[in-house]
Amino acid sequence: MFLRISGGDAFAKMVSGIQENAARVIIGIRALAQYGTMKLSKNLTLGEVTKSHTAIKYGINNKPTGEHLSNLIEVANKIFQPVRNHFNKPIVVSSGYRSQALNDLIGGASGSQHSKGEALDLDGSVDNFLIFEFIKNNLEFDQLIWEFGDDENPDWVHVSYKTENNRGEVLQAVRQNGRVTYKRWG
Ligand SMILES: [Zn+2]
Repeated sequence: MFLRISGGDAFAKMVSGIQENAARVIIGIRALAQYGTMKLSKNLTLGEVTKSHTAIKYGINNKPTGEHLSNLIEVANKIFQPVRNHFNKPIVVSSGYRSQALNDLIGGASGSQHSKGEALDLDGSVDNFLIFEFIKNNLEFDQLIWEFGDDENPDWVHVSYKTENNRGEVLQAVRQNGRVTYKRWG
């Protein structure tokens, strides 16, 4: 039985959506073959976003799935590379991909976008507040977080990007009585 929703348009849109997803997954799987040195974007390698001392120490597999790798390529090209190009200086990814096992071990937030390959933590060598301001004012993103620090500069910048439905949410992470809370920016 075939359920027609609203004529041919919806169906055509659904089919093309499935094809796009399949294409992204195939690109991701191919890329896994050249693991580590593979470039996600001009100035970012897969090795840079998957490196983890904790994963090595505990023998945890931190390789992304094909789908997560295609997400990493998106966030690299839509967020990292424009930041890198704007400042024209190395931008350090202090934390990128965390497989579910790694995220659980380090006590990361459950459902963290780091575990889907959608989020990067950026830290230096440009002042972090400049990175934060540039992303906020110039790029499409899902979530942008000023992570701790003080009013002048965050300790690092968390940013995520999704292939669709980016929320453009801007938050500030603060510690209050030992608990982490997220305040809306501004
Ligand atoms: Zn983060």
